[in-house]
Order: sequence, then C-alpha cells, then structure tokens
Amino acid sequence: MKMNWILATRAFTLTVLVGALALVGCSKSETATEGTGESVAATDVDNSHGGWWCVEHGVPEEECALCDKSLVAKFKEDGDWCKEHDRPESQCFICGPKRFDKFAAVYEAKTGRKPPQPEE
Ligand SMILES: [Zn+2]
Ligand SMILES: [Zn+2]
Repeated sequence: MKMNWILATRAFTLTVLVGALALVGCSKSETATEGTGESVAATDVDNSHGGWWCVEHGVPEEECALCDKSLVAKFKEDGDWCKEHDRPESQCFICGPKRFDKFAAVYEAKTGRKPPQPEE
C-alpha cells in the first residue's frame, strides 16, 4: 500500500513535469514560428517574383490580370478593361499613370517602402 502511494506520487510529479516542459516547449516554438513568419514576409517583399507584389505590372499579384488570366473575365464583366493595352483599365498606368499611386500606397503601407516602377 505504501509503495503504491509513492508510485502514484511519482507518476503525478512526472505528469506535472512533462506538462510543464510541454508548455515551455510550446511557447518556445510559438515564438520561433512568429520570428520566422516575420522574416519570411520580409523576404517576400524583396523577392521580385513569387511574392505578393507583381513587380512587372505594379499591382498586387492576386489582382494582376496580366499574370493571372483567370481574372480577365471578371474585369471585363465589370467594364474595367483597356482594350488598347489589353489590361484592366484600373491597372492601365499607360492611360493613367496616376492610377499607380493607389497601388503604390498599398505597397508602402505594407512594406514602408516605395514600390519599384512597373516595367510595362
Ligand atoms: Zn503581373
Ligand atoms: Zn490603356
């Protein structure tokens, strides 16, 4: 009976220890993940390609109808299309260089830097 009590206490202590270790390990890895996440985001901005920003066209990649042709139909449907330059009117910086300011502001808000000038 006495042995059992000692064993039970031991088991309890172990459980608490393991639990505490798991907690520490958990919070440690969380911090590490956060740090990595930040550096990944920073690298994304620096990358010309594969990031969230389409450097060639000066718009966020997910809005870039020149890269993602599946967006074309939606822009055309909305009547937002420059036939002359074959791109969304709202992204046609040839017709309206001022339009780039809106996208540039998004870039600046996210990165704190001025975006590179679009190539096309
Ligand atoms: Zn693009
Ligand atoms: Zn145009």
